[in-house]
Amino acid sequence: MSDEEFRINARGSDSYLKLIRNTFENFLNVDSINYDIELKNTLEEIGVVLEFDRIYIYYFSKDPTFMRIECQWNRDTVKPKREFQEEEVVYTLPWLTRQIKTSNFVVIDNIEELPTEAMFEAEVFKNEGIISALIIPLTYEENLIGYIGYESLSRAINWDDEQVEMLRKISKAFSYTRMRIGKEKSYESIIEGQSILLNNSQSQIWALSNVTSYATVNESHASFFGKNKSDLEYQDLYDIFDIDTANILSQNNWELFQKNEPAEKELEIKNSKGENRLLKIKSKPQKDETGNIKYLICTAEDITEQKRAEIELCKAKEEAEAANIAKSQFLANMSHEIRTPMNGIFGFLELLQSTNLSFEQKEYIRDAKSASEVLLHIINDILDFSKIEAKKLTMESIRFNLRTIIEDAVSLLVPRATEKGLELNVMIKSGVPEEVIGDPSRLRQVLTNLISNAVKFTESGEISIIADHLEEDNEVAVLRFEVRDTGIGIHKEDIENIFKSFSQADASTTRKYGGTGLGLAISSELVKMMGGDISVESTFGEGSIFKFNIRLKIAKRASEQNFMFEKLDDMNILVVDDSENNRAVVKSYLKEVGLKVFEAKDAGNGVTTIISNANTQNKISIAIIDYEMPGISGYELATTLKNIPIAKDIKLILLTSSAQREYGRNAKQYGFSSYLTKPIRRDDLLNCIAVALGLKKDDEEDGVAEKHLIEEIHDPIKPRILLVEDNEVNRKIFISMLKSHNMTCDVSIDGSQALKAVSEKDYDIVFMDCQMPVMDGYESTARIRRLESNKKNTKIIAVTANAMEGDSTKCIDAGMDDYISKPIDFEIVFKMIEECIKNKKPEIDYFNFIESNIDNFVDTTGLEREDAREIFEDYIRCLPDLFGGIEDAIECKNFEKLAKVIHELKGSSGTLRITSIHELSIKLEEKAKEQKLDECIELFTQIKGLFH
Ligand code: ADP
Repeated sequence: MSDEEFRINARGSDSYLKLIRNTFENFLNVDSINYDIELKNTLEEIGVVLEFDRIYIYYFSKDPTFMRIECQWNRDTVKPKREFQEEEVVYTLPWLTRQIKTSNFVVIDNIEELPTEAMFEAEVFKNEGIISALIIPLTYEENLIGYIGYESLSRAINWDDEQVEMLRKISKAFSYTRMRIGKEKSYESIIEGQSILLNNSQSQIWALSNVTSYATVNESHASFFGKNKSDLEYQDLYDIFDIDTANILSQNNWELFQKNEPAEKELEIKNSKGENRLLKIKSKPQKDETGNIKYLICTAEDITEQKRAEIELCKAKEEAEAANIAKSQFLANMSHEIRTPMNGIFGFLELLQSTNLSFEQKEYIRDAKSASEVLLHIINDILDFSKIEAKKLTMESIRFNLRTIIEDAVSLLVPRATEKGLELNVMIKSGVPEEVIGDPSRLRQVLTNLISNAVKFTESGEISIIADHLEEDNEVAVLRFEVRDTGIGIHKEDIENIFKSFSQADASTTRKYGGTGLGLAISSELVKMMGGDISVESTFGEGSIFKFNIRLKIAKRASEQNFMFEKLDDMNILVVDDSENNRAVVKSYLKEVGLKVFEAKDAGNGVTTIISNANTQNKISIAIIDYEMPGISGYELATTLKNIPIAKDIKLILLTSSAQREYGRNAKQYGFSSYLTKPIRRDDLLNCIAVALGLKKDDEEDGVAEKHLIEEIHDPIKPRILLVEDNEVNRKIFISMLKSHNMTCDVSIDGSQALKAVSEKDYDIVFMDCQMPVMDGYESTARIRRLESNKKNTKIIAVTANAMEGDSTKCIDAGMDDYISKPIDFEIVFKMIEECIKNKKPEIDYFNFIESNIDNFVDTTGLEREDAREIFEDYIRCLPDLFGGIEDAIECKNFEKLAKVIHELKGSSGTLRITSIHELSIKLEEKAKEQKLDECIELFTQIKGLFH
């Protein structure tokens, strides 16, 4: 029923109800504050006019099994219905409750007439003294919400229909008004809540009706300017603020209105205290139906402090970065400072070792050297770790040969593995790219760390290194490396921790094996930087498998087939080795190029395989034989095979470990055509096979084994070396080390001296320190390169302290060919020297030769020294021709010519009293006549050696 309908109904009632109607109209319009009083008044009005004794209204509680009297009226002569208005259980009056739920009203003219099922009600009513009653349910939107009771305690009432109907209608006013008031109350509380929120918000909120006028504002915005809400609302900016503030605000508002869409802006403005504050304003236009902006709603946060903090933070960050740069610079310097004296320690120990020492002294030196190595390793680890911490470690992008890096890492650890009697195998699977772009030294570092751990923690068995190509994505290869060992293994519970810094499997391990616990942490970071991850599988007591993946850009793919071996699919190769892994490596490399491989695990099996396949298409052409096998050794097997007619033509290749190198050198006597040292490098293996099969001429004439033999008696060639080094100790060590290998060098103490030296003399190799006074190594190299232009390229090797990332790139950029780091590993130095003079023709040092022989000639002949010198010079001028003639004759095995040329040499050297050459020539002539080539070569080599 609507408000209006209700008023009409009330108006249309009997005249004696006019009074009620008046009262009622008041009640219908009552507000929430006066509701309780008006309700009571209304009940009283009804009660008095209609002569009731009591009227009460029950409303059900939220839990509808309870109810509570909300209002009650009673004549002064009777007791109130309830002394306390509290919750009551609905079902104490079950009959009445049922009636209320199902009927529009319940009429009780006289309680004596109540039906028998209303026994509880009869009892209660009687106790309360009720004689007659009318109970009308109160509903709202068809829901029962309570009931109203009209009672007489003095008389029985004969309720007529009209009266009941009228009271029913009136009753509706109660429920209607109650619900209205309830809604209003909750609405008020919402409004109140919102204004509480708006006015208590820390954020400033305001609405503008145009560029210069406020519509409404919250407390926060008003108080920012030290004003009240009412000072601002519906006011013009220019009426509220001083001209400057009004100008700033209107300019800001104008810009926001212009945007015509949600916008954000920072505004600096003075607050009530005259402080400049920075506000971050967000605005949103509220538009009318025509699309015009009705209000611009703005919110603002004071971000002054936040901005200040940001600036502070930025400053702090810059300072921290500066400190970091200083730290890494410090690291660089420290690295340099530490490595330089380390160089001294290493060098002098090395030199000391080559002097005459007692056994005990040698032992001490060995211990000192190994302690220095450990120290250097620790220093390197700590420096790397600090660089990682300072995020200063970067990866280089250099093109490099993957196989070489892996094999280099392995060969570095061969001596230690050999010492412990461990086998090291390398297997680089097909598909692994030849060349990649990445950081070769960091990859080598990870591999070295894993392999050295494997060697360290393994007492017996073998260590395998496997490289595989997993997948490829857009010219980037995902490569998997595995380092397997048969060592002590790692407890499951320790596995999680070993990649963390300073962490070792357990304390006892530390005591037994030493180490910093940084290696794996560094490796793990390096692998991450190479786009991969590292993990380990291990069984305690059985061994470990460390695996890591990295992503490297492919520069040159794996060559499909080695063209040399293309047509050799009928060639069968036998590998005899007790190590299954080793056999697998050989097999894999040979299968890659299409050769057929048979395996035998010992000499007996080898012989059986050879004999059983002798007259078949599987006939063995080459046997690769391990030197050390249980039972019969490689030598013995070779001897046996050479005595079996069907096996004697099989080409034999010996496999030795590096500790057994001398067995390799003697292998030729046992019928081997060449030997290889383990771990086997694929290219060496293929080269050996190619030479054995006659597919390729070896660099040296008689195969690999011979290569080593010949090397030892080769003409010593004097390399021209320049050392550029400012540090005296380092110079001393370098020179002494060269001396110990019968070499000398020129010395420059800074870059500018080096420049001068190179312009005056033709050097084979220059070792250039990088940091020097006057002119550093980089600049000196760059200038040397400019000086050379296109004519020549002197080999320049940078000697770096290897302190900072990017050092190597800097060297290469400056025009250096390669670099070595301090402390200098002289093995590398000698390899570099050897490499650079490999193709150099031996040069005869005539001057020294004359000086050391002329005295004898002068003494015996009595000639003047000057005259004697002239004769010597004539002799020397003829020598190249003579030597050339001997070389040709040896090459063509023309012994007749050989004897003739030597005869000439014998004569002239005899005349000049050069006894050494004379005696050797006599022997050589004899051997030439006997046609003994090998002896001839050896004697001739000795003659040439006299000139150096
Ligand atoms: P370090 O070897 O210098 O202590 P690492 O970080 O290289 O530090 O190795 C951490 C620890 O992990 C080692 O101390 C050792 O307990 C364990 N560990 C590493 N590699 C192996 C391995 N191949 N076999 C058994 N334990 C290993």
